[in-house]
Amino acid sequence: MKTNLTINPERLWDTLMDTAKFGATPKGGVRRLALSAEDKQVRDWFKAACEDAGFTLGLDTMGNMYATRPGTDPNATPIALGSHLDTQPTGGKFDGILGVLAGLEALRTLVDAGYETRHPITLVNWTNEEGARFAPGMTGSGVYSNEMQEADMLALADPIGGVFGEELEKIGYKGTEPTGARKFAAFVELHIEQGPILEKEELQIGIVEGGQGLFWFDVTITGRDSHAGTTPMDYRRDAQMAQAELALAIEEIALANPPGVGTVGVTAVLPGSRNTVPGLCTMSAELRHPDGDTLTAMTAALDAKVAEIEAKRPVKIEFTMRWRKDPVKFDARVVEAIAGAVEKHGFTSKRMISGAGHDSYFVATTCPTAMIFVPCWEGISHNEEESATKEDCAAGTQVILDTIIALDQTL
Ligand SMILES: [Zn+2]
Repeated sequence: MKTNLTINPERLWDTLMDTAKFGATPKGGVRRLALSAEDKQVRDWFKAACEDAGFTLGLDTMGNMYATRPGTDPNATPIALGSHLDTQPTGGKFDGILGVLAGLEALRTLVDAGYETRHPITLVNWTNEEGARFAPGMTGSGVYSNEMQEADMLALADPIGGVFGEELEKIGYKGTEPTGARKFAAFVELHIEQGPILEKEELQIGIVEGGQGLFWFDVTITGRDSHAGTTPMDYRRDAQMAQAELALAIEEIALANPPGVGTVGVTAVLPGSRNTVPGLCTMSAELRHPDGDTLTAMTAALDAKVAEIEAKRPVKIEFTMRWRKDPVKFDARVVEAIAGAVEKHGFTSKRMISGAGHDSYFVATTCPTAMIFVPCWEGISHNEEESATKEDCAAGTQVILDTIIALDQTL
């Protein structure tokens, strides 16, 4: 049996360019919101490609798709790989998609070579990773991993009244298999980095050892509306100025705790009149850090800052935790299998922590899991200009193939 298998970079690239037509935007990006007509189109394409290759298709109640190539040992638990085919409203051709299509290419390479694995190999397309239409994201893997409640997720509504469960049925992808019933011996996900590090350091592969934790807060600052011309500065209860101070404090706290990051992505100032001192402000706040204790300490620093602002400004600041995800540490066996594959091919690499959230965070709670990153142009993602080179996509795909083969021999 041939053991040095080489993936086909042209065939991989063709599938990437081919599927990009489902939801293609004029600027060269992809708009393929979860459970939309475009999502159905790419799912149909994926299903047909997997059936053509002879894989068995499974579909669970959350719409997660599983394509399996059998192994030689009927009692072996499948090894899985995959990612997601949905995109942001102004997304690119690679975020998520690369992980699914790399898996398809790896499986096709096994088929072409007649290489038989002991474990079945299952390629997964997780439903609604992006959370752009139905928030939160990662709902398919979240329910699979029992980290989210299925009934709650099926009841999610989009901004124009669509309901997750109904839309899933409408596109024909609500399966009967109980979500989470299917177990894996390991899971590997290839993804574009979505950040600038690999490109800047001119490296081909990121060996991802874990993901950072994140805390999301909703913040409401209450002061009092008053006339902007007649209210002296020392009589104001200006919610917006308190908001500005708090936003800068979030930046300061992140800078004081590298590589932590802090973001205020949404703000609203009410009543929104240029000659009224704003009496109400709402904002989002998020903090991320790879170390759980540091993340907790950053939150404590933020609490202290809130108390300080309230002491000197006549406003009330309310913080509600909206979402909390603790840092994830990936499995050492899978990480070392990836490192071995990288070394075998002489690819340049570094070990890193993922800045973004991924399905793998959830799957990691159910089986040994790790991720592989490849560089993307200027580190840009969630953008129609998102791009990655054919060579880098091929290198990542070669690494995932060799990782799967190594895991098949050792697990
Ligand atoms: Zn993604």
